[in-house]
Amino acid sequence: MLRIGLGYDIHPLVEGRRLILGGLEIPSPRGLAGHSDGDGLIHAVIDALLGAAGEGDIGRLFPADPRTKGISSLALLRDVMDMLRGRGWRVVNVDAVVVAEEPRLAPYVEAMKKKLCSLLGVDEASLGIKGKTNEGLDAVGRGEAIACWAVALLER
Ligand code: MG
Repeated sequence: MLRIGLGYDIHPLVEGRRLILGGLEIPSPRGLAGHSDGDGLIHAVIDALLGAAGEGDIGRLFPADPRTKGISSLALLRDVMDMLRGRGWRVVNVDAVVVAEEPRLAPYVEAMKKKLCSLLGVDEASLGIKGKTNEGLDAVGRGEAIACWAVALLER
């Protein structure tokens, strides 16, 4: 059986936070606000995986409680992958878009892919991460937030 899932996330960019995306710290004067490390890319990927598996969403699995305060989203993804493997799922591929006016993400995509491929159990050809700007439009275009989209295909 093949199943597809879609994930979306958006976090505000604020002073005084590190910018973590795809499990990677990216040099930036501002970072993503959030209860966890604010890694919207991983959150979107997790929601795509959970949607494909029919397992709800990230907010249901990891409520914003003291246990998840400041947690690395890589740890959340690891937990989700453990659960999905336990239910017999294998990731076929994941494709994601990060919409950010700044910083430019292209120089970091390969390193993000290296971090995420091993967790997802896919080769680098089966994980797409694409950086886009919002062409100056709306809150993302004004640099007030970073939005992320992901689709995931699972098989069992
Ligand atoms: Mg999030």
